[in-house]
Amino acid sequence: MKKNSKIKNIAILCSGGDAPGMNAAIRALTRTAIFKGYSVFGIKRGYSGLLEGSFIELNLRSVANIIQKGGTILKTSRCPQFFEKEYRIEASHILRRNKIDTLIVIGGEGSYTGAYLLEKETGFPVVCLPGTIDNDIVGTDYTIGFDTAVNTALESIDRIRDTASAHDRVFLVEVMGRTCGEIAQRVGIAGGAETIIVPEDKNKITMSVLNNENKILNTAISLQNLKTLSEKLASDLKKSQAKGKMSSIVIVAESGKPEFTYQIARNLKKFHKIDSRVVILGHVQRGGTPSAMDRYLASLMGYEAIETLHQGKSNHSIALIQNKITAIPLKSSIGQHKWNDQKLLTVSKILSI
Ligand code: ADP
Repeated sequence: MKKNSKIKNIAILCSGGDAPGMNAAIRALTRTAIFKGYSVFGIKRGYSGLLEGSFIELNLRSVANIIQKGGTILKTSRCPQFFEKEYRIEASHILRRNKIDTLIVIGGEGSYTGAYLLEKETGFPVVCLPGTIDNDIVGTDYTIGFDTAVNTALESIDRIRDTASAHDRVFLVEVMGRTCGEIAQRVGIAGGAETIIVPEDKNKITMSVLNNENKILNTAISLQNLKTLSEKLASDLKKSQAKGKMSSIVIVAESGKPEFTYQIARNLKKFHKIDSRVVILGHVQRGGTPSAMDRYLASLMGYEAIETLHQGKSNHSIALIQNKITAIPLKSSIGQHKWNDQKLLTVSKILSI
């Protein structure tokens, strides 16, 4: 017996950057929904596909053999029209014309905002799942794709460490994360980095430095002030060299500033005579087989999303909070910035001394 008689047809879309584990989420959503008696439709290419009316019915077999695959079988996109109210209203008409009763969105904070506005402005029910490698959604401890991206980056960093050590070199390794430092912090600590440079907000970065009194300071520096950043980094690297550390890995979060890492490298050379090599890990971090953690998280979150709808709730997102999967109001994750855990920066510095 269905608890929610208002729902017959559920639609699923992926939006924003793809993340490993999205397929596991699509599988879990589809199978749980069908088990509970609902029909399921996939929308191709995110909000763009929604506006084009690109719907396909999913059955139990259409989601077979995808749990281990990266990317998303539904494809994803960025859709500039969805920033405008008239297109969100149009989207609600398209959904209703296609007899869809609820929309499930798998994506990051931007996709959440689109979904939130869709329900707020048109009353069309939505539920969101956190699918992004950046782990930048406030309200959930983890997002689907983060663990795989961290492991992929780490594998590359281990390889870079071999060559860094063989040549006594400094490597600046840029990782993804947009304006959030989660990937950089995690990779930096797990990879034994010398220094981690993370965005504090859209205009500042933070790094931990060891001062002359042997104290660790987490220093925020404006992104416009790359000379100061390079000075602090150079001083840190020179202190390490004086202690006999001849090779170093510095993890730099992309920080939303193009050429950021190359500029740091140029400043290190020009003002401090420190040679370094830049590696931009880029999109390799998005691809690949999802880790056990991401498949597990996606599976349980997919189940929970359908359970949430089944209980008559919408306007919620699914979150992992202290190891429990739960539904939280969508609004609580909108327009928020996930701040850096300052303690992690301090710990990483202590461990790299
Ligand atoms: P992510 O969901 O991974 O954070 P984006 O920020 O690129 O990725 O957002 C994905 C899509 O979500 C955008 O292309 C747009 O269609 C929609 N979106 C993002 N921000 C908003 C917003 N403020 N209002 C409405 N729709 C939005």
